[in-house]
Amino acid sequence: MTLDLAAPQLAATILDGKAMAGLLKAEVARDIAKLNSLSVVPGLAVALVGEDPASNVYVSSKVKACHDLGIQSSMEHLPASTTQAELLALIDRWNADPNIDGILVQLPLPKGIDVNAVVDHVHPSKDVDGFHPHNLGLLVSGRPGLVACTPAGIMKMLAIYGQSSGWTPAGKRAVVLGRSITVGKPMAALLVNAHATVTVCHSRTPDLAGRVAEADLVIAAVGSPKLVQGGWIKRGAVVVDVGIHRGDTGKLCGDVDFETARYMAAAISPVPGGVGPMTIAQLMRNTVDACIARRNVTLPTS
Ligand code: NAP
Repeated sequence: MTLDLAAPQLAATILDGKAMAGLLKAEVARDIAKLNSLSVVPGLAVALVGEDPASNVYVSSKVKACHDLGIQSSMEHLPASTTQAELLALIDRWNADPNIDGILVQLPLPKGIDVNAVVDHVHPSKDVDGFHPHNLGLLVSGRPGLVACTPAGIMKMLAIYGQSSGWTPAGKRAVVLGRSITVGKPMAALLVNAHATVTVCHSRTPDLAGRVAEADLVIAAVGSPKLVQGGWIKRGAVVVDVGIHRGDTGKLCGDVDFETARYMAAAISPVPGGVGPMTIAQLMRNTVDACIARRNVTLPTS
């Protein structure tokens, strides 16, 4: 792809997460077929506590992806009244089950359950969400481990974009908006490991627009609809929109004002159809990787 930076109204390349997730899932499906040839079926256990409608939708998509790819999934939908002790006991059972390679506890959890206690209880080898301090430590150390699905999926998205455009995060100025354990912090660590120079912004960062204007790569994960305006973005930047919001009309939007940003960016991910599908595909990847590592399998080469 060639980009004419002098052109005032050049629309960005769309980072088509749906198509890219298809590529990632096809790769995962090939590995599952190889595992099956060794009589191994990867397994993912998912816990959903309470009735959060968005969580219901996310969990259904994850279970469907397992079904489509041939990952054995077991789903426990627990009432909002579930105690922390009951949830930890369920995780104990899953930790001990040799047929379960990945454990996912959908967040947020109802009040009264300590998220850290739950995250810490999942065995690190089955921590397909990559939230356990052991896996976060490996990530920061630049060592292999299970990495949070959304940031890992974004790195795959950037790699696929790079294959056609030659773009790479190495040497670029990256700005990550948001510092959550689920997105912002692991994203920043991945980009540092990929040799970008990274600024992490949060709710106390002064002059957010000024920080974004300096960036060759913007990752927006603030949870605030259309916060990032096109006028903030440096012409030719790559913009990845993690946010997902449903407006009053039911239409989805992200943390970036797509309609203005697409005329400044060289490439931009849409909402929907951007980061969301990559997150689910990466969860499948993590589950298969956990299976291969835990069961000490060597995949056949062909
Ligand atoms: P989160 O835990 O609420 O974290 C939001 C982060 O943004 C915090 O670090 C917060 O700063 C910062 N922030 C909030 N408002 C800000 C502002 N006005 N200026 C600068 N920083 C601000 O959210 P999250 O879990 O990281 O998720 C972020 C968004 O991504 C949400 O819309 C979520 O639904 C979406 N998401 C999508 C996917 C997907 O697969 N597509 C996956 C995960 C999340 P403080 O730390 O100072 O509070």
